[in-house]
Amino acid sequence: WSFIKRAIWSDQSVQQTLPTRSRFSHKGSHGRGFVIGGSQSMPGSVALTSSAALRAGAGLLTIGTVPEAIPSIAAQLTEATFHAMKGQNGWIQAQELDLSPYDSVVIGMGMGRAEETASITRQVVKSAHCPLLIDADGLYHIQHHKSSLRERSHPTVLTPHPGEMAMLSNQTISSVLDHPISISKTFAMEYGVYLVLKGPFTIITTPDGEQWVNLTGNAGLAKGGSGDALAGVLLTMMMQHETIQHALSNGCYLHGKSADYMVEHQHSDRDLLATDVIHGLIQIFRTLS
Ligand code: AMP
Ligand code: MG
Repeated sequence: WSFIKRAIWSDQSVQQTLPTRSRFSHKGSHGRGFVIGGSQSMPGSVALTSSAALRAGAGLLTIGTVPEAIPSIAAQLTEATFHAMKGQNGWIQAQELDLSPYDSVVIGMGMGRAEETASITRQVVKSAHCPLLIDADGLYHIQHHKSSLRERSHPTVLTPHPGEMAMLSNQTISSVLDHPISISKTFAMEYGVYLVLKGPFTIITTPDGEQWVNLTGNAGLAKGGSGDALAGVLLTMMMQHETIQHALSNGCYLHGKSADYMVEHQHSDRDLLATDVIHGLIQIFRTLS
């Protein structure tokens, strides 16, 4: 517990590290992000991630998803641009995908577990020469390819919940819940990744084994879609900070703080939805600035 007290990411940590927006900036200054995921049956996942990324202040955002999902997402997210990830022969291959314009990439949410999405995930791990965040089905796909993470020359962020962490580390869920700090540290150092182990207290670990704990958030987040929204906030933060640990700690803080604000002022922890958490960011940013 003394460790946790030392490592809490506080209001003051956020004030000291969250970048301000320059009066003379342009959309390129705030990062160009790419969100890869979604499927015909889970179009909402990428919509939540992208909407959270835009609300968190991304300069430009592109969504790479299956063509069937694009019209419904485009109708709600008028600020995003799209890349159809599937042609007549299934999901596209990485050689058809130019990742060079992007400052950060996130892959995995709602993508499904079919082999063609496994293949694109493995290819993106190799070809994304920028910070890469892997979540949800993306984590499923890399579980047997973890050594490829060590070969990346740019930061890699994994955002598992305890069940996904158990899968990645070949542990039981109960041992992840009993020893979240040591299991995170061993894993992050072994594979050279930033690890965001999500839960009521989210633990952020750097590849060097430095650890921070986020205490914002409430049980209203224990719902489908919360993790998708978090991934979007983190994507934007990764594009806007010099230090990835600051980006991840600030992103987790803002996501949880928004949920706390909404439960205090407009919702209860029963009816809070991920969409409300994204909307709540408005108030959090207003009070921070
Ligand atoms: P996922 O399981 O991928 O949808 O991610 C869930 C998100 O909600 C993570 O950011 C968790 O930290 C957060 N979360 C889930 N349950 C709670 C809880 N009881 N208290 C605070 N945060 C939570
Ligand atoms: Mg999730």
